[in-house]
Formats: sequence, C-alpha cells, structure tokens
Amino acid sequence: MTLSDALGEAGEAVVRARTVLNMAGIWIDKVNAMAGAGAGRKITGTKGVHLMVRLPEECRGRAVMGTNRENEHLYCLPWNDLHYFGPTETLYEGDIDGIRPLDEDIDWLIGEVNHLMPGLGFRRGDVLFAWAGVRPLTYDPALPKGARRREIHDLAKDGMPGVLAMTAGPIMTHRSAGRELTDAVAARIKPSGSAQAISYDARSFPENQNSPPLSDDYKEIKLADLRHAAAHEHVTGLIDLLHRRVNTGWTATMAHTAARKAAEEAAKELGWDQARIDQEVKRYHDYLMQQHRVGEGGLYDGRRAVLGEGN
Ligand SMILES: Cc1cc2nc3c(=O)[nH]c(=O)nc-3n(C[C@H](O)[C@H](O)[C@H](O)COP(=O)(O)OP(=O)(O)OC[C@H]3O[C@@H](n4cnc5c(N)ncnc54)[C@H](O)[C@@H]3O)c2cc1C
Repeated sequence: MTLSDALGEAGEAVVRARTVLNMAGIWIDKVNAMAGAGAGRKITGTKGVHLMVRLPEECRGRAVMGTNRENEHLYCLPWNDLHYFGPTETLYEGDIDGIRPLDEDIDWLIGEVNHLMPGLGFRRGDVLFAWAGVRPLTYDPALPKGARRREIHDLAKDGMPGVLAMTAGPIMTHRSAGRELTDAVAARIKPSGSAQAISYDARSFPENQNSPPLSDDYKEIKLADLRHAAAHEHVTGLIDLLHRRVNTGWTATMAHTAARKAAEEAAKELGWDQARIDQEVKRYHDYLMQQHRVGEGGLYDGRRAVLGEGN
C-alpha cells in the first residue's frame, strides 16, 4: 500500500507510536502547536545570508576567515570555481515559511566584506546569487540570539509524553546527533530488529561519459545523471532535481537557462506532459528569483563579473 492510499481522500491518517521525534528544525514550535498541548517555546531563529561571487582564478580553492564589526565570524569559502561570503547572524522573528535574502541583508554583508577587505571593491553587481536560511537554535531567555547548545527536549514536561525534539543540531555533528537520539529512543523502547551496519559512502551516478552535459557552464552533470536521479531518487519536481539530487542548481547561472532542457529530460522518466514541463520551468524560475534573486531584474543579469578585477 502506498502512503497516498493509506492517507485516502482526506489526506489524513492516524499513526500510533510509543515515541515520536519532532525533528522539524525551525518549525519545531509550529509542529508542537499543532498538537495543541501548549508546549513552551523551544526555538530561537537567527537568519543567515550568503553571497556567491566569482573571484580571480588565483583565488581558487583558497579561503579567508575573519570577523565582522559585531565580532561574529565572517568568511569567504571556495565552492567549486566560485566563492561565497557570509554569513549574516540576525535574530529572525518573521514568517518561517518566507525566508529570503533581502536587500538590507545583502547590503549589510557587502559592507562588512568591504570593511574586512577594503581593496576588494565589492558591489551588488558582483553577486551571482544569494541565499538565506534560519538556524534552529535553542531558545534561552538569557540569550537574545539563542543558544548554540544542542539539546534533546523531553516534551512530557509540556504535556506531550513520548515526544522528543532536538534543537540546535548543526550539520557538522549530525552523526553524533543521530547516535544521541537513537540512545534516547532506545532508553524508551527496545529495537524491534537487529543492529545494521551503517554505510556513509557517497553514491555516485552510473558511468555516463557518453552522455552530453546538461549545461556547458558546468559539465559535471550529464543528461544521463538527470534521468538516473529522476528514475531512482524520488524526485518531486524540477527544483528538487536541480538543487537536491544534482548540484547544477548551485552553479554560477543556477541552471536558469538550462531549466527547460532539464525538465524535458526528467519528463522522460517521470511521465510529465508538456503542461507539466511548462509549469515546472516556471516554478523553477520563480523559485530562483524569490530564493536567490536570480533572473530578469535580479542580482545576476547575464554578466559574469569577476570580483576584484577591473576595480
Ligand atoms: C545560513 C546558515 C548557515 C549554516 N551553516 C552551517 C555550517 O556551516 N555548518 C553546520 O554544521 N551547520 C550550519 N547551519 C545549521 C544547519 O543548517 C542546521 O542547524 C541544521 O540544518 C538543522 O538540522 P535539522 O535536521 O534540525 O533541521 P532542518 O535541516 O531544518 O530539517 C527540518 C526538516 O523538517 C521538515 N519539516 C518541517 N515541518 C514539517 C512537518 N510539519 N512535517 C514534515 N516535515 C516537516 C522541514 O521541511 C525540514 O526538512 C547553518 C544554517 C544556516 C541557516
């Protein structure tokens, strides 16, 4: 039986479990509120914005670490043949479903980078694209920007027995976070199966050197890779495919011009008709504009600026 069969027409199902993990990041409080038990606040969000640029060839693979004028860290990190500057670290109390890199974030970050590296002459037109996220830090009334301490909250105290939530678990320690949570669950319920060996190996796409690349800007991802991902990686749409299943979305052009070709290729596996292809391409372009300020009138207007040259 598939999930949609189980959910039925109403799109709802009742699932019973002795232990429930609320791992919804910045949405943890929202999910708790859906349970209606009046759980206390667990999350404080700080907004982080980054800016992708192209630096001169001799900078490739090199990084700079420093601090901004508020003594928070400010870095420039290599990303393939590009670099990104960031982050911002501002308290976020806006709509958690509408997090975007705003002009004020971008201008503030550019100002801080120019303060740290006055010779760079960084301008808005140098930004290829921007992105924003909100960190799910632990709520602590004594710390306005939240606590970076990773915590497992036992929500029994909040009227939700058997429910645990984790806050402030960064990506870099995700393995230990997984072990800590597994231990917390194992202390409550016995495992039903035997222990399995975990493989952390990355899986690569099958050999595909005869397949042309999706985009001449970034030759690593081939059309065959898109078809493979579409067939085997539970792709839900073009945004999902280009940003999460292959990384062509995270290149200098964000695959803006390659979107239609990618949708047509995915359609061969996913059975999309022409109307769905058009819808996916439009949705992709709207997403690039909203989330990354890329497209007509956005930050990236076709110039391939090299930051630090010709200033
Ligand atoms: C700008 C920025 C820079 C960062 N830099 C770093 C870094 O350099 N190193 C590092 O280690 N960490 C970094 N982090 C932190 C890191 O990204 C987060 O701490 C981490 O992603 C938190 O993981 P999580 O699984 O708890 O939450 P998330 O990754 O947010 O996952 C929560 C998931 O729950 C889903 N969800 C929400 N509501 C529901 C629902 N009702 N039903 C089903 N699913 C739901 C969401 O869609 C989401 O996929 C950074 C964060 C930001 C914003």
